[in-house]
Amino acid sequence: MLIGGELVISQSGQWLESINPATEEVLGLVPQGDTADVNLAVDAAARAQPSWAALDFKARGKLLRIVAEALRAKTDEILRIEVADTGNTITKMKRDVETAGDALDFYSGLGVEIKGESMPASADNLHISIREPYGVVGRIIPFNHPIKFAASALAAPLMAGNTVVLKPPEQSPLSATVLAELCRELLPRGVVNIVTGTGMPAGDALVRHPAVKRIAFTGSVPTGLAIQRAAAESAVKHVTLELGGKNPLIAFPDNDPDTIAAAAVAGMNFAWQGQSCGSTSRLLLHHSLYKPVLERLSDKVAAIRLGDPLDPHAEMGPINSKRQYDRVCSMLRSGIDEGARLAVGGKRPPGREFQRGYWLEPTVFADVVPDMRIAREEIFGPVLSVFQWRDEAEAFKLANATEYGLTASIWTRDIKTALRAARAIRSGYIWINGTSAHFYGTPFGGLKNSGLGREEGLDELLSYTETKMIHVMLG
Ligand code: NAD
Repeated sequence: MLIGGELVISQSGQWLESINPATEEVLGLVPQGDTADVNLAVDAAARAQPSWAALDFKARGKLLRIVAEALRAKTDEILRIEVADTGNTITKMKRDVETAGDALDFYSGLGVEIKGESMPASADNLHISIREPYGVVGRIIPFNHPIKFAASALAAPLMAGNTVVLKPPEQSPLSATVLAELCRELLPRGVVNIVTGTGMPAGDALVRHPAVKRIAFTGSVPTGLAIQRAAAESAVKHVTLELGGKNPLIAFPDNDPDTIAAAAVAGMNFAWQGQSCGSTSRLLLHHSLYKPVLERLSDKVAAIRLGDPLDPHAEMGPINSKRQYDRVCSMLRSGIDEGARLAVGGKRPPGREFQRGYWLEPTVFADVVPDMRIAREEIFGPVLSVFQWRDEAEAFKLANATEYGLTASIWTRDIKTALRAARAIRSGYIWINGTSAHFYGTPFGGLKNSGLGREEGLDELLSYTETKMIHVMLG
């Protein structure tokens, strides 16, 4: 762990195992941080913060770019660790390391936007606002894209003049320890602190710490709710949440079936086993497309090549952890019990290499209806649920029939239909004739229970500042 500029073990001396999900072998150990370690990390961050905030914003930006460069220089090392630790396939994960650097670069250039306003609030006086950092920011991230989330978790708060305590995911913590080494070398002591450990107690202690007023969490809805409660119990805090999704891909009848089958596969992000908050895991097909798309989709999904995630030819690896594997398998059983039709997949793949590890065939359920669990709950695995609809009103009702509202994908060649759908669907990030892509500089985040707050744009940077009003009495 990185605390106050030193690489340290936990105060308790306890360790956590990190498991390779492809083989169930232990890859390594990380310190099991708890409340005592979080307290030390927050103290170190609080000590470092005034001089970090006092740096010229250009100097902070330059340091972020230096960290981004150092990350890129270690791409191969980070990739090998990340792929073994997560099970995500190597070819696609390369982009994650690039995105980690991109996030730091993006915010490094936005310092000049941390500006206030002057307001003509009275005729005689001058009224100006300035933006100030919160102080110490707590960031907690999930297992699906560890290095990308770890680096981007630092970028906006640091640029705004805060220092950070980061808690990586306990299932895939190893790449964050490489980031810890880089931050130790390149940044002033205490500016970045990384405490490995489980949600309870380490994450919870960070949320509850009285010196951490600003918390940003990425993870599941139940944990998001627990974090809101813990924050509310301990002090007045600003909490933002990037939570789960059960995202619809809606195909209108003016599409050809090949296009939609390909879009449905792309939207599932099978390269990381569907474990993506933005995966379009509900395919809502106009009834005229239902049969032809399902046939083509089943063929395409059955042809996805599972294999060692370090092999550049592998198109899908194992599920990230035993916990996640068990959850996905329980959702599969529930789909079958509730009468959905297994169109393809749904079991451990044959072959000796898949008998150990958290392997599951990519899966498509047909004939899904809205009251099934697989229609309502996020599975966060390689499982796609397919529905059909007859008129537009039914499509919109289906699209909105979950507690989530993160992303949506709309497929039609008719601009009016596309925009009507985009306005009717309660999701925060919508693609028309596209899936999956994020565009830095545009605000990402969820409606409904998918979250609160926006990331990846100027909104995120400003969300790490508080406004102070100054009234200059000129009379
Ligand atoms: P999770 O909620 O189980 O855990 C996420 C993080 O929270 C981990 O670091 C964990 O240790 C920590 N944590 C757990 N309990 C805590 C507590 N009581 N207090 C403080 N911290 C605690 O989520 P997960 O299984 O790691 O990730 C999958 C979820 O993340 C999915 O729901 C997915 O949709 C969501 N996700 C959302 C986004 C987004 O941008 N909206 C991105 C990626 C993943």
